[in-house]
Amino acid sequence: MQEMLTKNTTHTLTITGMTSEGLGVGRLGQMAVFVPHAAVGDTIEVLLTKVLKNYAYGKMIRVLTPSQTRILPDCEQFPLCGGCVYRHISYEEELRIKEELVKENFYKIGHIQIPFEPILPSPLLDGYRNKAQLPVGYTKQGALTCGFYQKRSHRIIPNTSCLLQPKAFGPIEREILLHMKEYSIPPYDEETRKGVVRHIYLRRGESTGEIMVCIVVTGKTLRKSDILVSRLHALDKNIASIVLNHNPKNTNVILGEECTTLWGKDSIEDVLCGVNIQISPLSFYQVNRQGAQKLYQKAAQYAALTGSETVLDLYCGAGTIGLSMAKSAKRIIGVEIIPQAVQNAQENARINQIQNAQFFCEDASGAASRLAKEGIRPDVVVLDPPRKGLTPQLIDAVVQMAPSRVVMVSCNSATAARDCAVFVQNGYAPKRACACDLFPRTAHVECVVLLEQEKENLHAR
Ligand code: SAH
Repeated sequence: MQEMLTKNTTHTLTITGMTSEGLGVGRLGQMAVFVPHAAVGDTIEVLLTKVLKNYAYGKMIRVLTPSQTRILPDCEQFPLCGGCVYRHISYEEELRIKEELVKENFYKIGHIQIPFEPILPSPLLDGYRNKAQLPVGYTKQGALTCGFYQKRSHRIIPNTSCLLQPKAFGPIEREILLHMKEYSIPPYDEETRKGVVRHIYLRRGESTGEIMVCIVVTGKTLRKSDILVSRLHALDKNIASIVLNHNPKNTNVILGEECTTLWGKDSIEDVLCGVNIQISPLSFYQVNRQGAQKLYQKAAQYAALTGSETVLDLYCGAGTIGLSMAKSAKRIIGVEIIPQAVQNAQENARINQIQNAQFFCEDASGAASRLAKEGIRPDVVVLDPPRKGLTPQLIDAVVQMAPSRVVMVSCNSATAARDCAVFVQNGYAPKRACACDLFPRTAHVECVVLLEQEKENLHAR
């Protein structure tokens, strides 16, 4: 009989694995113990902070024998700031962990065997994010600041020099804070629901250099915004758009539905896989452009288009995946639920002189059912759902449309594995898969899977 573990006791623990959230895992007898900021191969002294029936959480007191994979974290805010989880291990190790986790999810959750290609690394490890959304508030000492919420809290860890964001963002963030101080513009307080500025939200088109400054406010205006506009303009000539987003609601959701352009354009531009892309404050756009290009190239390779195919791009955002495939297809149909993103997609098609793409603003499941009923028979369906994955209704409708290939892109391999398993039950064979790292130093990882209709394969033989 194993000795019972109790809270607040210390133990020696060897870390043997990593969870999908980036917690180190070790074993004390039958118990799995999860420890933040540990590395596989570490032997550590751990203090148990929470003990449950089959597992426990611990806090690292000290490293007794460090893992070979450890490196010195190069950010002062790590690990306090909740942004990065992997600044203490080498990038090779991070890739190994991510690849293993994705594979494991397909084997353990989906119960499917797929030949995996080696994980695609991100071309940039720092400065890769083209978007920053920083809450504004006060530090414990009462100083106005912006930064990141500490993990599982709403305490802001000041950070205007995050290594993951472009270097140009820090000075803009500081300029906005300065303006708020000078004109006594209070940050929004979630508890009292008073105050004005909720978030500083910045986006950058990497290939054009254009920057969008968006300030999320509770009301309709920002005090002395004309002065802020001229200040920002003097600070950085790459700023092409300055926007207020209005979010009066008592909610955790960062953006409200309406925007007012204070100065410049309503959207900025970037080039992704050779396609000019308009980015508006509300449209989804991959945060790591160079990583996304590798991911979309892999998706295109799996789609194997010859020019005669109809491609249905579900959850299409600003249309990026479909538009990057438009030249090699006969027809592209995109579906996306956010109206502004659909407008962007249509605009993107227009400015790229792509005439064979159409976009619908609809729920993907509803649209798939409708298109199936209307007799649309795409050759390839591209799926890129949010983290929660697909609905049974959507999978049903796609199966009814009987595409010969389904290319599933996902930021959550657990739900992707679950959904692929349903396709497999419906006659699709998992042919190839590849993990792709779009989010270095964080626990997130993308994957892309190719499913082929088996009947057609038989037919082809
Ligand atoms: N394929 C795009 C976007 C992928 S992110 C790209 O690579 O850029 C997922 C997208 O699905 C987001 O744009 C989100 O707004 C959209 N979305 C979320 N729920 C949806 C639903 N029920 N129906 C259609 N689109 C949805």
